[in-house]
Amino acid sequence: MSDSTNHPIGRSRLCAREALTDQLTRAKADDRPSREELEPGCIYSVFDVLPAGISLFLGLVSSEQIARNPDQILADLVVDPIPAPVHENTPLEIVKNRLENEHLAALAVFNDSGDFIGAVTRTSLIDALLKREKELLSDESHRHAELSTNRDPSPSWSEQLRSLSLATRSLLRIMNTIKLERHLLESSLEYLTRLLSARYGAIGIFDEQGQVAEFIYTGLSEEQAQRIEHWPEGKGLLGRALARNQFLRLQNLHEHPHAAGFPPGHPPMRNLLAVSISHNGETYGRLYLCDKTDGGFFDGDDELLVATFADTLALAIRNIWNKEGRRRAEEQLRIAASVFETSSEGILITDAKANIVMVNRALTTITGYSKDEVIGRKPSMFSSGRHDRKFYRQMWLSLDESGQWQGEIWNKRKSGEIYPEWLSITALKDDGHQVIRYIGVFADLSSRKFTNSLVDQLINHDHLTELPNRLMFRNHLKKAILRAHGERKQAALLYLDIDRFKTINDTFGHQIGDRLLQQVAERLTKCLRENGRTRRGDVVARLGGDEFALIVNDLGGPDDANKIAQRVLEAFTEPFLFGDRTRRITVTIGIALSPRDAENVDDLIRHADLAMYDAKHQGRNTYQFYSGKIHEKNSTRLDLENDLYNALERREFSLHYQPQVDLRNGRIVSMEALIRWNHPDRGMIPPDQFVPLLEDTGLINPVGDWVLEQACRDCLQFGKILGTDLSVSVNLSGHQFRNNLTKIIGYILSRVGLSPSRLKLELTESLAMQQVQETIAVLDQLADMGIDVLIDDFGTGYSSLSYLRQFKISALKIDKSFIAGACLETDDGKIIRAIIGLAHNLNLQVVAEGVESPEQLEFLRSHHCHFGQGYLFGRPLPLSEIAQLAGRRMDRGGPLN
Ligand code: C2E
Ligand code: CA
Ligand code: CA
Repeated sequence: MSDSTNHPIGRSRLCAREALTDQLTRAKADDRPSREELEPGCIYSVFDVLPAGISLFLGLVSSEQIARNPDQILADLVVDPIPAPVHENTPLEIVKNRLENEHLAALAVFNDSGDFIGAVTRTSLIDALLKREKELLSDESHRHAELSTNRDPSPSWSEQLRSLSLATRSLLRIMNTIKLERHLLESSLEYLTRLLSARYGAIGIFDEQGQVAEFIYTGLSEEQAQRIEHWPEGKGLLGRALARNQFLRLQNLHEHPHAAGFPPGHPPMRNLLAVSISHNGETYGRLYLCDKTDGGFFDGDDELLVATFADTLALAIRNIWNKEGRRRAEEQLRIAASVFETSSEGILITDAKANIVMVNRALTTITGYSKDEVIGRKPSMFSSGRHDRKFYRQMWLSLDESGQWQGEIWNKRKSGEIYPEWLSITALKDDGHQVIRYIGVFADLSSRKFTNSLVDQLINHDHLTELPNRLMFRNHLKKAILRAHGERKQAALLYLDIDRFKTINDTFGHQIGDRLLQQVAERLTKCLRENGRTRRGDVVARLGGDEFALIVNDLGGPDDANKIAQRVLEAFTEPFLFGDRTRRITVTIGIALSPRDAENVDDLIRHADLAMYDAKHQGRNTYQFYSGKIHEKNSTRLDLENDLYNALERREFSLHYQPQVDLRNGRIVSMEALIRWNHPDRGMIPPDQFVPLLEDTGLINPVGDWVLEQACRDCLQFGKILGTDLSVSVNLSGHQFRNNLTKIIGYILSRVGLSPSRLKLELTESLAMQQVQETIAVLDQLADMGIDVLIDDFGTGYSSLSYLRQFKISALKIDKSFIAGACLETDDGKIIRAIIGLAHNLNLQVVAEGVESPEQLEFLRSHHCHFGQGYLFGRPLPLSEIAQLAGRRMDRGGPLN
């Protein structure tokens, strides 16, 4: 891409990034800057800081807006709907058009990664244009004239003229792209004043009525400028000359006998040059320069220079006026046409005899008829038959009398479907009061979309589910909190997360994941409906990923929230569509109430989130209210995390071993290594409480390596302690499975001196089904090394049979949750039989874990399950205690001593 640095004179287009304002202040959503802090022209970028420390850009607010609403917080001043931001590479042309057309003080600029990088205001936009022009100008003319203040004291006239013509050319160029701006005139005037070494300069621009609309000055104080704001209205020499549009060049002005006409308080002037800004007899304004800095007088050359400048200015202004006028007329037409065509409301125009002459696109969408099918026919073609003659008679009566009718009416679509619409009809009359057209505008009341403009839909809604997004959600939540406060009720926030969604997405693909999210959105929306309607302010939003939120207003207390949570869980008992099959999914909900648990948006969200987290720990498919205790738990989590960092060095981890038994002969064949953490203050901590932390912190890699090595070393001891060689089973977590696993294992095995056939790895089902291609590759390598891998917790994830076939694995381990309910009649029993059948079909072995009772053992045996593990055979024990397993046979429904 070429830019201005490569081509100093090239006219590469400026873009938004190059016009960012430096008058930008970053502010928090609930800030309310004081009047004293406000600087005119300042823009505030308003951010909401989310609990995770992520800042969410809400929008821009101008200092003028703040000044007008001093009691409101910034979040409430962010305009609604928020104007779409521009990309940093958007050409300034487009930025400028949007600022003008949408009447915005500023536009937000985002980069490729979707981060807010700043804002463009009208002033910063002009600054950028001017800066570019100045650069071009000095590039073009640096050999002829220095334009900076330390310029050559006496440039020749031709040099001056040249640089002036460059200046005016650039003025024209700028004016072609932007409206006449005070700012722009100021810089031109300053430039001219400097060029001619004048002490004061002023430009008065007239409006279309010939009144001074803009008075721009340089070298004068504000006070002085105010005093000379009144013009010498035709009085005295100056007044008369100006009235006649004459040029004036006066020396020793104050001595001139006819120098009257200056208002009192006008600064003393010796030397004046006044030129009218006019073209073809039309005057647009006047330009004055006063007093040379060196005490000299303006000469004829100066006058010519100024006249040239004034000419150009006149041309520019005329162009702008013309363009402006034309643009306004064109724009009006364009707006009318585009409103007609893009309106989400159906529009129908008939002639005086009610024959349809014109319809818009929305009408064809709503009614289902094409344009050709309706033009020339009568609107009665849409009649539903629901209204009697009286209804229509009254409509016509009202149209005749007042030229207007409005009301709800039932009409019929082409499909035959009857739907309600809100219709307003206006009779258009000519000068003689004869009706020439009827214009009907209607909104389809059956579609909830009819109020949402496209822009609003894009910015505030989630594309996939059409639910409000996080941004919109925060708005709603803020309102709900305020309302609850005002009405002495509670508002509930239900934070909702789909259990194991990631697994679903990874297993079935994003398309099915997306469809699922849409179905979830639909069901949640239904949960908020009572008698087919949603109460005002009650909202379902999608916060991203598989996270949803429900806002429920007007609650008496937790009991009411309870009911809603139950309703939601109930809604999930029906299976969902997964492609062409159906499956059940579950959700976990965290609930926080306002004002009970929090009185601001962030705290409420944080508390609901914590409650959700807690509910997940309780075992998913459940809901949990926020309570202060969760906070405590959470800080425990943080403390634990801290301690974990030192645990490995301090040798606080140890391994326990649980036997795996061959169900056919009762012999122990292998030991599963299960990690334990002996915390100095808290005692033994079970892995469920810290393995997830290890994974979150990345500590799982060093700790996992330690487990592998320790297990391999201990495996060599089994033979010595128990008299027979056993293999060892090690659990793997996701991170380990990816990270150079085979290399590490190869290294450990050779260092310890253990045969690969004695090491088994356990991989959970959900883990195996993530990134399947990678899994297949690693499993192939492990198989090549001679290491067996089994799929752990089988039955809890979502296995795909075709993948299972491609995995080089040796066994499936049925999750203990099924074994708990193992008996012939139950569903669990059926699942166990199905898994065993599947394993046999795939030529895999089956292990049952969590075997606790002789009945379970009997059931498993009778269904030809190969191996078993569980308290029935032995609890996990440290290496030092496994000697007690020696010589045990476990084939008669319990350990035999
Ligand atoms: P897992 O791999 O499913 O391990 C089996 C869990 O069931 C063990 O819990 C074990 O003590 C328990 N268990 C064994 N027999 C019975 C029984 O008859 N009834 C019941 N109710 N439970 C039984 P533990 O030791 O608390 O381990 C929990 C989980 O932590 C393991 O589940 C495994 O996923 C993970 N884990 C343990 N050690 C490691 C490790 O070294 N690395 C990794 N990545 N994860 C580990
Ligand atoms: Ca395991
Ligand atoms: Ca398991």
